[in-house]
Amino acid sequence: GGMTLHDPDELAFAVARGDRRALARAITLVESARADHRARAEALLAALPRDRTALRLGLSGTPGAGKSTLIEALGVMLTGRGMRVAVLAVDPSSARSGGSILGDKTRMERLSREPSAFIRPSPAGGQLGGVARRTREAIALCEAAGFDVVIVETVGVGQSETVVADMTDVFALVLAPHGGDDLQGVKRGVMEAADLILVNKADRDPGAANRTKGDYAAALRLMRHRPQDPQGFPAVMTVSALEGAGLAEAWDAVERLFAWRREAGHLERLRGEQRLRWFEEELVAQALQRLHADPRLAAELPGLRGEVEAGRMSAPEAARRALGA
Ligand code: GDP
Repeated sequence: GGMTLHDPDELAFAVARGDRRALARAITLVESARADHRARAEALLAALPRDRTALRLGLSGTPGAGKSTLIEALGVMLTGRGMRVAVLAVDPSSARSGGSILGDKTRMERLSREPSAFIRPSPAGGQLGGVARRTREAIALCEAAGFDVVIVETVGVGQSETVVADMTDVFALVLAPHGGDDLQGVKRGVMEAADLILVNKADRDPGAANRTKGDYAAALRLMRHRPQDPQGFPAVMTVSALEGAGLAEAWDAVERLFAWRREAGHLERLRGEQRLRWFEEELVAQALQRLHADPRLAAELPGLRGEVEAGRMSAPEAARRALGA
């Protein structure tokens, strides 16, 4: 077409206008690790309008709990109310293996046909740190594109849940009812990060879903409570993504918490803290990149590695020498 989209300002303008193809290309650009792409990505991000904000919802849960079914049902409900919904996936398994738990194309078929929805599967490759950076930038792009809601989905693997909780306004866990008395090995840190636990598949066995709800509510009561949260949060609710039961109530809880945090000033503080942690991560990432691009270091590293491997020099000493201190 006539539009080059090569120029960051032009691309930013097209994204801000709500051009979905431009948004897809912009996300591809921020996903790239190439140095010239990084420079353009930074210029693009700097050129975005800053006056737009979305509700950023983090959503995590074990594979098979029903995340994609739930996001699709929720997304269709919200677009039906006239909202624009973006879905981004964070999939650390694709960072490790190049394969993906989340990324098959048939997921959320109904939602992907909605003109006011945008679904971006997880890119393959890279480190979890890189995945976090790209996702933060993709969120910024979706906000600039005028989406009302940005859902960031992750599989419950390793640290990805806390990474997602650290870039969203409200964080929800999707879990299936458990059979026995275990809590599905959900880690304490993840439970503590959750604003909302959705016990899904309540249509299959309502009794089991209610028992699971009670167990999680009891577990949450034993954990650190955020004093700034309103009555009733963190909340545990039963839903059926398949039949749609409880979804309106779940969304209502998300919006209520978001509005409370915004009105009380907690949202701006939370986002400020998140931006600061992003900055700290960027500092480390860019320092490492600079280090690896240093020719003097590249020349010295093989020798130092040999010394360390043979046990002739300690690792801390070798590192200090490598850095020229
Ligand atoms: P994900 O791996 O967490 O994204 O899970 P999926 O959304 O792919 O769902 C896994 C399986 O559970 C699929 O076969 C779904 O049809 C099924 N499922 C999801 N939600 C529900 C639900 O509310 N009720 C029932 N009965 N099945 C569900």
